[in-house]
Amino acid sequence: MIVEDEEEILELVRFHLEREGYDVSCAESGERALRLIRRENPDLVVLDLMLPDLDGLTICRRLKSDPQTAGLAIIMLTARSDEADMVAGLELGADDYVTKPFSPRVLIARVRAVLRRDERPVASEASVLRRSGWLLHPGRHEVAYEGNPIAVTPTEFRILQTLMLRPGWVFSRDQIADAIYDGELASETRTIDVHIASLRKKLGDAAHWIETVRGIGYRFKEQV
Ligand code: CA
Repeated sequence: MIVEDEEEILELVRFHLEREGYDVSCAESGERALRLIRRENPDLVVLDLMLPDLDGLTICRRLKSDPQTAGLAIIMLTARSDEADMVAGLELGADDYVTKPFSPRVLIARVRAVLRRDERPVASEASVLRRSGWLLHPGRHEVAYEGNPIAVTPTEFRILQTLMLRPGWVFSRDQIADAIYDGELASETRTIDVHIASLRKKLGDAAHWIETVRGIGYRFKEQV
Protein backbone atom coordinates (compact mmCIF):
# COMPACT_ATOMS: atom_id res chain seq x y z
CA MET A 1 0.00 0.00 0.00
CA ILE A 2 1.19 3.46 -0.87
CA VAL A 3 0.23 6.31 1.46
CA GLU A 4 1.03 9.60 -0.21
CA ASP A 5 -0.96 12.77 -0.83
CA GLU A 6 1.15 14.02 -3.73
CA GLU A 7 -0.48 12.48 -6.75
CA GLU A 8 2.58 12.54 -8.98
CA ILE A 9 4.69 10.65 -6.50
CA LEU A 10 1.89 8.23 -5.74
CA GLU A 11 1.44 7.42 -9.43
CA LEU A 12 5.17 7.07 -9.96
CA VAL A 13 5.52 4.60 -7.10
CA ARG A 14 2.40 2.73 -8.13
CA PHE A 15 3.63 2.44 -11.71
CA HIS A 16 6.96 0.94 -10.68
CA LEU A 17 5.54 -1.43 -8.06
CA GLU A 18 2.87 -2.72 -10.43
CA ARG A 19 5.45 -3.23 -13.13
CA GLU A 20 7.30 -5.46 -10.67
CA GLY A 21 4.14 -7.48 -10.23
CA TYR A 22 3.00 -6.20 -6.84
CA ASP A 23 -0.68 -5.67 -6.05
CA VAL A 24 -0.87 -2.04 -5.08
CA SER A 25 -3.52 -0.06 -3.27
CA CYS A 26 -3.29 3.61 -2.46
CA ALA A 27 -4.42 6.08 0.16
CA GLU A 28 -4.08 9.86 -0.08
CA SER A 29 -4.70 10.57 3.59
CA GLY A 30 -3.75 9.09 6.93
CA GLU A 31 -7.26 8.26 8.11
CA ARG A 32 -8.04 6.52 4.86
CA ALA A 33 -4.75 4.63 5.07
CA LEU A 34 -5.54 3.32 8.56
CA ARG A 35 -8.99 2.17 7.46
CA LEU A 36 -7.69 0.48 4.29
CA ILE A 37 -4.76 -1.18 6.07
CA ARG A 38 -7.07 -2.79 8.63
CA ARG A 39 -9.36 -3.98 5.87
CA GLU A 40 -6.85 -5.14 3.27
CA ASN A 41 -4.02 -6.32 5.51
CA PRO A 42 -1.17 -5.43 3.10
CA ASP A 43 2.32 -6.94 3.37
CA LEU A 44 4.07 -3.60 3.28
CA VAL A 45 3.29 0.09 3.44
CA VAL A 46 5.23 2.83 1.67
CA LEU A 47 4.38 5.67 4.01
CA ASP A 48 4.93 9.34 3.29
CA LEU A 49 5.61 11.17 6.55
CA MET A 50 4.06 14.45 5.40
CA LEU A 51 0.32 14.01 4.99
CA PRO A 52 -2.46 16.59 5.22
CA ASP A 53 -4.36 15.03 8.13
CA LEU A 54 -2.34 12.61 10.26
CA ASP A 55 1.41 12.72 10.09
CA GLY A 56 3.25 9.55 9.15
CA LEU A 57 4.76 9.05 12.60
CA THR A 58 1.30 8.99 14.18
CA ILE A 59 0.24 6.40 11.63
CA CYS A 60 3.39 4.40 12.32
CA ARG A 61 2.74 4.50 16.07
CA ARG A 62 -0.88 3.42 15.66
CA LEU A 63 0.01 0.55 13.36
CA LYS A 64 2.76 -0.70 15.66
CA SER A 65 0.57 -0.54 18.78
CA ASP A 66 -2.25 -2.57 17.21
CA PRO A 67 -1.55 -6.34 17.35
CA GLN A 68 -3.29 -6.84 14.01
CA THR A 69 -0.86 -4.52 12.24
CA ALA A 70 2.22 -4.54 14.49
CA GLY A 71 4.17 -6.88 12.18
CA LEU A 72 3.43 -4.86 9.05
CA ALA A 73 6.53 -3.78 7.14
CA ILE A 74 6.88 -0.02 6.72
CA ILE A 75 9.16 1.98 4.44
CA MET A 76 9.00 5.71 5.12
CA LEU A 77 9.27 8.43 2.52
CA THR A 78 10.93 11.46 4.05
CA ALA A 79 12.28 14.80 3.02
CA ARG A 80 16.04 14.98 3.30
CA SER A 81 15.70 17.65 5.97
CA ASP A 82 13.55 15.48 8.24
CA GLU A 83 16.31 13.50 9.90
CA ALA A 84 14.64 13.68 13.32
CA ASP A 85 11.43 12.23 11.89
CA MET A 86 13.35 9.50 10.17
CA VAL A 87 15.07 8.53 13.41
CA ALA A 88 11.78 8.62 15.31
CA GLY A 89 10.15 6.45 12.66
CA LEU A 90 12.85 3.80 12.82
CA GLU A 91 12.59 3.79 16.60
CA LEU A 92 8.84 3.27 16.30
CA GLY A 93 9.49 0.15 14.25
CA ALA A 94 9.57 1.27 10.62
CA ASP A 95 11.91 -0.99 8.63
CA ASP A 96 13.61 1.49 6.38
CA TYR A 97 13.28 4.88 4.76
CA VAL A 98 13.89 6.52 1.40
CA THR A 99 14.54 10.23 1.15
CA LYS A 100 12.90 12.41 -1.48
CA PRO A 101 13.74 12.88 -4.23
CA PHE A 102 14.34 9.17 -4.69
CA SER A 103 15.03 6.88 -7.60
CA PRO A 104 12.22 4.36 -8.16
CA ARG A 105 14.89 1.69 -8.57
CA VAL A 106 16.14 2.28 -5.03
CA LEU A 107 12.64 2.22 -3.59
CA ILE A 108 11.79 -1.04 -5.41
CA ALA A 109 15.01 -2.62 -4.15
CA ARG A 110 14.19 -1.65 -0.58
CA VAL A 111 10.63 -2.98 -0.93
CA ARG A 112 11.92 -6.27 -2.29
CA ALA A 113 14.55 -6.55 0.44
CA VAL A 114 12.13 -5.86 3.29
CA LEU A 115 9.56 -8.33 1.92
CA ARG A 116 12.13 -11.02 1.23
CA ARG A 117 13.55 -10.77 4.73
CA ASP A 118 10.27 -12.07 6.13
CA GLU A 119 10.34 -15.23 4.05
CA ARG A 120 13.73 -16.82 4.47
CA PRO A 121 13.99 -19.03 7.48
CA VAL A 122 17.47 -20.57 7.44
CA ALA A 123 18.06 -23.54 9.72
CA SER A 124 20.85 -22.01 11.81
CA GLU A 125 19.05 -18.69 11.99
CA ALA A 126 15.80 -20.31 13.05
CA SER A 127 17.34 -21.99 16.06
CA VAL A 128 16.99 -20.65 19.57
CA LEU A 129 20.11 -18.87 20.88
CA ARG A 130 20.99 -19.14 24.55
CA ARG A 131 24.18 -17.55 25.83
CA SER A 132 25.42 -15.43 28.72
CA GLY A 133 21.98 -14.85 30.15
CA TRP A 134 20.45 -14.11 26.74
CA LEU A 135 17.61 -15.93 25.11
CA LEU A 136 16.72 -15.30 21.47
CA HIS A 137 13.79 -17.22 20.10
CA PRO A 138 13.29 -16.53 16.36
CA GLY A 139 10.11 -18.61 16.08
CA ARG A 140 8.45 -16.68 18.87
CA HIS A 141 10.26 -13.44 18.01
CA GLU A 142 11.22 -13.14 21.68
CA VAL A 143 14.27 -11.63 23.31
CA ALA A 144 15.02 -11.92 27.01
CA TYR A 145 18.04 -11.08 29.13
CA GLU A 146 18.36 -12.70 32.55
CA GLY A 147 14.73 -13.69 32.34
CA ASN A 148 13.40 -10.23 31.49
CA PRO A 149 11.64 -9.96 28.13
CA ILE A 150 12.71 -7.08 25.88
CA ALA A 151 10.38 -5.83 23.15
CA VAL A 152 12.27 -5.14 19.91
CA THR A 153 11.23 -4.47 16.32
CA PRO A 154 11.79 -7.14 13.61
CA THR A 155 14.80 -5.22 12.29
CA GLU A 156 16.35 -4.87 15.75
CA PHE A 157 15.77 -8.57 16.30
CA ARG A 158 17.67 -9.41 13.11
CA ILE A 159 20.57 -7.16 14.08
CA LEU A 160 20.82 -8.69 17.54
CA GLN A 161 20.62 -12.16 16.05
CA THR A 162 23.27 -11.41 13.42
CA LEU A 163 25.72 -10.15 16.05
CA MET A 164 24.87 -12.81 18.61
CA LEU A 165 25.40 -15.72 16.22
CA ARG A 166 29.12 -14.86 16.27
CA PRO A 167 30.16 -13.23 19.54
CA GLY A 168 33.42 -11.33 19.25
CA TRP A 169 33.19 -10.99 15.47
CA VAL A 170 33.09 -7.43 14.21
CA PHE A 171 30.42 -6.65 11.63
CA SER A 172 30.64 -3.60 9.41
CA ARG A 173 27.50 -1.55 8.85
CA ASP A 174 27.36 -2.91 5.30
CA GLN A 175 27.57 -6.47 6.57
CA ILE A 176 24.78 -5.84 9.05
CA ALA A 177 22.68 -4.25 6.30
CA ASP A 178 23.38 -7.26 4.08
CA ALA A 179 22.31 -9.63 6.84
CA ILE A 180 19.08 -7.87 7.62
CA TYR A 181 18.16 -6.92 4.07
CA ASP A 182 19.42 -10.09 2.41
CA GLY A 183 22.12 -8.52 0.28
CA GLU A 184 19.75 -6.29 -1.64
CA LEU A 185 20.85 -2.77 -2.35
CA ALA A 186 22.04 -1.89 1.13
CA SER A 187 20.37 0.73 3.23
CA GLU A 188 22.21 3.89 4.00
CA THR A 189 24.68 2.94 6.70
CA ARG A 190 23.24 5.68 8.88
CA THR A 191 20.11 3.55 9.16
CA ILE A 192 22.11 0.82 10.87
CA ASP A 193 23.45 3.31 13.43
CA VAL A 194 19.91 4.44 14.19
CA HIS A 195 18.68 0.86 14.60
CA ILE A 196 21.63 0.08 16.90
CA ALA A 197 21.00 3.20 18.99
CA SER A 198 17.33 2.31 19.30
CA LEU A 199 18.17 -1.29 20.18
CA ARG A 200 20.62 -0.21 22.87
CA LYS A 201 18.02 2.06 24.38
CA LYS A 202 15.63 -0.87 24.67
CA LEU A 203 18.29 -3.18 26.09
CA GLY A 204 18.92 -0.72 28.93
CA ASP A 205 21.45 -2.18 31.40
CA ALA A 206 22.27 -4.94 28.92
CA ALA A 207 23.23 -2.48 26.17
CA HIS A 208 26.93 -2.94 26.92
CA TRP A 209 26.75 -6.34 25.21
CA ILE A 210 26.71 -4.52 21.86
CA GLU A 211 30.08 -2.90 21.42
CA THR A 212 31.06 -0.22 18.94
CA VAL A 213 34.35 -0.93 17.21
CA ARG A 214 35.57 2.45 16.11
CA GLY A 215 35.99 2.84 12.38
CA ILE A 216 34.69 -0.68 11.68
CA GLY A 217 31.27 -1.45 13.08
CA TYR A 218 29.66 -3.43 15.87
CA ARG A 219 30.07 -6.69 17.71
CA PHE A 220 28.38 -8.74 20.38
CA LYS A 221 30.65 -8.97 23.41
CA GLU A 222 32.50 -12.22 23.77
CA GLN A 223 32.13 -13.81 27.16
CA VAL A 224 35.49 -14.22 28.86
CA1 CA B 1 3.23 14.37 1.25
